[in-house]
Amino acid sequence: MEKEVQVILKEHSLRQTNSRADIVSFFLKHKKAISHSDIESQLGGKYDRVTIYRTLKSFIDKGLIHQVLDDGQSTLYALCSDCTTLEHQHNHIHFKCLKCEETVCLEGVTIPKVQLPEGFEVEDSNFLITGVCRNCT
Ligand SMILES: [Zn+2]
Ligand SMILES: [Zn+2]
Ligand SMILES: [Zn+2]
Repeated sequence: MEKEVQVILKEHSLRQTNSRADIVSFFLKHKKAISHSDIESQLGGKYDRVTIYRTLKSFIDKGLIHQVLDDGQSTLYALCSDCTTLEHQHNHIHFKCLKCEETVCLEGVTIPKVQLPEGFEVEDSNFLITGVCRNCT
């Protein structure tokens, strides 16, 4: 098992299991937002749906991955960079390429502050930009 994977699981207070280790490596390898079915098919049916769901859920709970809202039908997930077991903290935008259909986190690009009318409170915001990515231009 890769050293990096062990460190990441430990940092997020997750006990090591094969499914967790495999799924973390999968995220590290792909560096883009991935769906449940990507994981299921790419890991060659090694884990059943429920195991994958549970693993993803524990990763979200522990601040290891976050959901990425896409315009597609499936939920995507991407690795967090600075989140902790206590809370998620990010405010970056997501970019979906219309050519290769990959969605990535643009960590350096922050969601602009939106001025809401009086009486409205922000809980969470999602910002998705579609276009053509660096690899496809
Ligand atoms: Zn996060
Ligand atoms: Zn692309
Ligand atoms: Zn993201």
